[in-house]
Amino acid sequence: MPIRALSRGRTWLFPPTIEELMPEDHPARFVAAFVDELSRADWARLRIAVDGDPLGTPGYDPRALLCVWLFGFMTGLRSSRRLEAACRDQIPFLWITGWEHPDHNTLWRFYAAHRLEMRELFRRTVRTAVSAGLVDLAVQAVDGTRVQGSASRARTHDAAHLQQLLERTEAAIADLEAQNERGEDPPPPRLPKELARAQGLRERVRAAIAEVDAGTSPQQQVNLTDPDATLQKTRDGGYVVGYNAQAMVSSLDETAAGTTGLVILAAEVTTAADDHGQLASMIDAARELTGQAADTVLADAGYHSGPNLQACADRDQSVVMPEAQAKKLADPYHKQAFRYDEESDTFTCPKGQKLRQVGTNRRKRRPIAWLYRADRGVCAACPAFEACAKSRRHGRTIETGPDERLLQKHRAWMATPEAKKVYRRRKQLPEPTFGILKERQGAGRLLLRGLEQVRAEWLLLATAFNLRTLYQVWRRRRKPDSAGPVAPERVSQGYPVPLPLALPC
Ligand code: SF4
Repeated sequence: MPIRALSRGRTWLFPPTIEELMPEDHPARFVAAFVDELSRADWARLRIAVDGDPLGTPGYDPRALLCVWLFGFMTGLRSSRRLEAACRDQIPFLWITGWEHPDHNTLWRFYAAHRLEMRELFRRTVRTAVSAGLVDLAVQAVDGTRVQGSASRARTHDAAHLQQLLERTEAAIADLEAQNERGEDPPPPRLPKELARAQGLRERVRAAIAEVDAGTSPQQQVNLTDPDATLQKTRDGGYVVGYNAQAMVSSLDETAAGTTGLVILAAEVTTAADDHGQLASMIDAARELTGQAADTVLADAGYHSGPNLQACADRDQSVVMPEAQAKKLADPYHKQAFRYDEESDTFTCPKGQKLRQVGTNRRKRRPIAWLYRADRGVCAACPAFEACAKSRRHGRTIETGPDERLLQKHRAWMATPEAKKVYRRRKQLPEPTFGILKERQGAGRLLLRGLEQVRAEWLLLATAFNLRTLYQVWRRRRKPDSAGPVAPERVSQGYPVPLPLALPC
């Protein structure tokens, strides 16, 4: 096969415009159309002066800067320096900025000033999808993923390490101050900087010790780089210093949308090491944004608890979630195998012996539990003692709490084929969502520090995720043979692109 001539100095007789270089259905066009749809009230909510200031040097158009960040988050470019590079050498970014080249300082200042308000954009993506009837709201699934924060694990210390660090830092400060006082005239140029750094570290260590002493740090350890980040156990059994990022996910209604896809209906970040406390708040957040409750919420065993079942019952919310101890249910002497009789308030064990209430127990998680035991000596003489009981003195103890009835009811519901069938859908909802967020959008590692900032970052990632999904619908509806409602073709400001997907807020 002959080789084509290679010429890197090739010129165009009629150079194409940047508009001509951009495919008509490019995702950057969709993002630009999404931003163009923002009303003055929306810009006010974002606290962005879209008209700029009549005085002073002209600045970059905020619509372009917002598009750069949104498209960057969609494509995994999330640092201001990488976005600056993209605005110099990537056609979609050059098109977005109109061939302007904002530097990383400009991009960072815009992001730092407005990222907390940008959570409004997440609401807008959800409401757009819901009001256009694109989302199957019947089944929603919640899950959490552990994301690495912008901090090293080596900077996480417990009380003893913090005390040692404080002593070392104070010794270093004393040494630096002594050098200063020895009268080198002028003092060494590096000294004040080193001194300021050591003094700053001392303040952070003191604050961390105060936090551990006050018991406000849940794990009795504090990271000095990001004090809000906590140790989070990952699925492979390791630990990262980071956050627990939550998402409530639903799928597109394929008939209405003309394509498949996933939509994040609620997103949150917490420092909690487990998911137990997140179920009710995520259900409420999704309900508030979508305007209606899900028929069924799917959750994994990490959310299973009596209080969570009670919270769902209070909301009249059907929930499908297995128990963490599902495997133990097969044990013939599991509590499940003991039959409760309400009238006599007794349990009957698999060997037919009655267990009566003998007292109560106080627990941290449950305010109170009732204890049931067989008569003295019955269990000790039982052939199943080794398999069933642990205590020679008391025999087998059955413990029930205020949520017991709900737990039993839920266990029975989870054993039905219907629950098992619905639960299988969970694998198709949050898991691929987290996969896309981490692999394509670079969410495996957060770039900001502090809970509030990390929340803003996670919400912007969720916004970008939803924009990716909405883009698929938009692109599908642009095709002449597309199914679903088609709005009149519209010429957007500067972008002669038909917009068949209306974007109401
Ligand atoms: S150990 Fe006690 S509770 Fe367990 S099966 Fe035997 S008699 Fe029943």
